[in-house]
Amino acid sequence: MSLKSEAIHPLPKAGILDISLYVPGKSAARGAKIYKLSSNESPFGASPQAVAAYASKGNLLALYPDGSATELREAIAARYGLNAGSIVCGAGSDELLQLLAHAYLAPGDEAVYSQYGFLVYPIAIASNGAKAVVAPEVNHSTSVDDMLKCVNAQTKMVFLANPNNPTGTYLPFNEVKRLHAGLPKTTLLVLDAAYAEYVRRNDYESGLELVATSDNVVMTRTFSKIYGLAGLRLGWAYCPAHVADVLNRIRGPFNVSAAAMAAGVAAIGDQKFIETAIAHNEKWLGLLTEQLQALGLKVTPSVGNFLLIHFASSGNRTAPMADAWLNEHGIILRRMEAYGLPQCLRMTIGDEEANRAVVSALADFLK
Ligand SMILES: *Cc1c(COP(=O)(O)O)cnc(C)c1O
Repeated sequence: MSLKSEAIHPLPKAGILDISLYVPGKSAARGAKIYKLSSNESPFGASPQAVAAYASKGNLLALYPDGSATELREAIAARYGLNAGSIVCGAGSDELLQLLAHAYLAPGDEAVYSQYGFLVYPIAIASNGAKAVVAPEVNHSTSVDDMLKCVNAQTKMVFLANPNNPTGTYLPFNEVKRLHAGLPKTTLLVLDAAYAEYVRRNDYESGLELVATSDNVVMTRTFSKIYGLAGLRLGWAYCPAHVADVLNRIRGPFNVSAAAMAAGVAAIGDQKFIETAIAHNEKWLGLLTEQLQALGLKVTPSVGNFLLIHFASSGNRTAPMADAWLNEHGIILRRMEAYGLPQCLRMTIGDEEANRAVVSALADFLK
């Protein structure tokens, strides 16, 4: 009997080996000083109170954390006026997105996300053997009409990053409500509001209200962006009671570390620290957009802490060439090939020095 047709080692479930690896932003470049603007991290870091709370757990490492994250859930609930029982915490919102897909998607199911949507969604969908259905975008913005056209009886989940990464565009709340109204009651709408704190628009809502008034909407949030705690891995989901119950059954019993919970409670308590970061972002979002446009570059209008910058698709001023030039000057932006945007680079809004360094290096590059 030939062994050739038989597997020679254990194989994962169908679909898993088709997943492309998620490639994080680079962190190395040439130059004495490195400006890392590739992963939407906060130039302000974390609140000193959060850092102190984290450090305070250093001599308690032998003890298991509170598996139900009570103190953290109560701090989040108090901050946003929510019911703590409807909050589930995770090791980053990525874990919660994965858990949601794990709980609600199986082979034969479909899940919808938009063309330039966050790349964690296709990974979460394919890991559970479901089919990813990609809705086209219009002007690098989610199109509710195109998303609804992708929905059928097999659609179990719809993922919407609002604002979206990497485009920086957002859907006004009435559009989110229109999307929700067009979904079957059995389809779970996941609103990923990782950048909600940065948005300064009257017609934007993160989704708290929609979760509270529906049975099929979940909102995820993170401590990785405005709170500057990306290294700790901390996020939360606000869910209908029946979804919270499902997530609590399948999550790891101690999925959030004691130090992360302590830092999260302190970070939520230090809103003054966040206000500085919000004001800085608003100022530089506008300034950088203007200055890059003045260099002749197209910039997608963003409400997040990053900008999608468009370069020529041929010739000697392309995005890969700009990237190489910036790397030579110690500046790291994010290449966008994985998102199907090879002519773009994504820039995180940095501190003033980093922002000025990018504009000046790009001005030289485009000369
Ligand atoms: C950064 C980001 C997250 C946050 O991921 P964490 O796992 O919480 O660090 C979630 N969604 C989007 C769209 C993001 O850009």
